[in-house]
Amino acid sequence: MDNSETSRPSNFIKDIIDEDIRNNKNNGQVVTRFPPEPNGYLHIGHAKSICLNFGLAAEYKGRCHLRMDDTNPEKENVEYIESIIRDVKWLGFDWGEHLYYASNYFEQLYQWALLLIKKGLAYVCDMTPEEVAATRGTPTVPGKESPGRKRGVEENLDLFGRMRAGEFPDGSRSLRARIDMASPNMQMRDPVLYRIKRAEHHRTGNAWCIYPIYDFAHGQSDYIEGITHSICTLEFEVHRPLYDWFLDQIAEPGRVRPRQIEFARLSLGYTVMSKRRLLELVETGFVTGWDDPRMPTISGLRRRGYTPESIRDFAERIGVAKADNIVDAALLEHCLREHLNRRAHRVMAVLNPLKVVIENFPDGKTEELEAVNNPEDEAMGKRPLPFTRTLYIEQDDFREDPPSKFYRLSTGREVRLKFAYYIRCTDIVKDSSGTVIEVRCTYDPETRGGWSKDGRKVKGTIHWVSAEHALPAEVRLYDHLFTVSEPESSKNSAGYKTYLNRDSLKVLHGCRVERSLAGAAPGSRYQFERIGYFCADAEDSRPDRLVFNRTVSLKDSWAKIEKKA
Ligand code: ATP
Ligand code: MG
Repeated sequence: MDNSETSRPSNFIKDIIDEDIRNNKNNGQVVTRFPPEPNGYLHIGHAKSICLNFGLAAEYKGRCHLRMDDTNPEKENVEYIESIIRDVKWLGFDWGEHLYYASNYFEQLYQWALLLIKKGLAYVCDMTPEEVAATRGTPTVPGKESPGRKRGVEENLDLFGRMRAGEFPDGSRSLRARIDMASPNMQMRDPVLYRIKRAEHHRTGNAWCIYPIYDFAHGQSDYIEGITHSICTLEFEVHRPLYDWFLDQIAEPGRVRPRQIEFARLSLGYTVMSKRRLLELVETGFVTGWDDPRMPTISGLRRRGYTPESIRDFAERIGVAKADNIVDAALLEHCLREHLNRRAHRVMAVLNPLKVVIENFPDGKTEELEAVNNPEDEAMGKRPLPFTRTLYIEQDDFREDPPSKFYRLSTGREVRLKFAYYIRCTDIVKDSSGTVIEVRCTYDPETRGGWSKDGRKVKGTIHWVSAEHALPAEVRLYDHLFTVSEPESSKNSAGYKTYLNRDSLKVLHGCRVERSLAGAAPGSRYQFERIGYFCADAEDSRPDRLVFNRTVSLKDSWAKIEKKA
């Protein structure tokens, strides 16, 4: 991490940490964690949390743990664990030896459950999950007490032991905290701590048939690991009294007691973020997988061509707040352009080729011109660019009947071919349907490099490739996954799938890219002059069969918003 990360602006979480340090709480230590449940791939919202937790640890010279919150075996698996590890690393963060699993704490959690029973603060309830839910009451109506609530300690210990031993069917009993069935906070109405579920766990196998629920595992896991600041999203605010209640029962004097702090989750427009929804998109085959370049997952963004730096920059710019809001995807795109502008090689690629014949250029001759790799950075050097009699330009760069502000090529007009020559259109060739299939031009040999010696100016500069040297390529253009900015909002009541964008992927097969892209490494990024940023697809592109993903176009709507502000 560079130094700029140590002097970041303040926010309410840092204010809390600063205050704790001033009071020498936890001996001034800062230990955070990122605690994903391995039930899906990480998305850009998680990236916000990752950058926040690892960023704070770096800033305060503490440490950040990566912990798999793996208490729900039915939905979790090793593929997800591996993807999480890969994605957090790729984002540029390092947890050292601090990779943990909540499942490693199962025995300790069980012992704490026994402790609660012994204190008379937990009991075995004989109701089904449906009955438990039905007797919780509503925020204004108190819940009904479970008959199990009156059980004595010995009976509870016996029943809970037999739950663990597998004597009872799934869902037939649970262990519940004895708190307050009339609490205005529904979370405090004798929450379930353990449920019976015969499910093989990806790490503990069949050792357990009872599993702790999230609330009973999370805070205690923080406590075991000595987490000082347990940062989570706003929906856990109502869980905080329960988080603290558990700690009140188990915390020993002199040990670090974690403090839960909530912040607003990230929502992005024109996409969905919850893993459940993303899994549905994968399972229904609307996308090709978790790493489909249209997905808001970290693996999708990576495959799309995003850099870790741009995502970290994005996380930094959106900051942390206490109120939910939707962030414009244009900001994320802006961060990427900013990062790649000075770094990506600029090359020429023609997505929809139109043949151009330079009538006064000899057939069979190749002239090697010179192109600048990136005008923002001279050190990136130059490359030779072959110029020949037959070229391709973009169909959009020619108009038979140009509208008034069209400065590109049309009959009789002159334009600059980037890094090459001025050319003038002399004639066109059409097919039987009237479509222009070839443009005939002459070039001015006195304009080599694209500059005329007589000071003659042209208004348009267009990109091109040599037909003989260019390589065929497939180009995939992506658009938003959804047609509305809030597919899950109540105002879009038809259900989020109704708003899937059927045109979110457009595949162009006949593209031509310049020779220098031969052997482009999968994952490598370029700016295609005048079009946008592209990357060679990490899965499907091969040196002999190039496939490029459009990461982002060049048009930067965010830069405009920023200027106005
Ligand atoms: P989802 O609702 O997308 O399935 P989750 O909250 O169930 O996500 P977890 O694996 O429990 O996913 O999340 C791990 C951490 O990431 C949690 O601390 C959670 O608060 C945080 N997190 C999840 N989604 C977001 C988001 N959109 N913005 C910021 N942080 C998030
Ligand atoms: Mg969760």
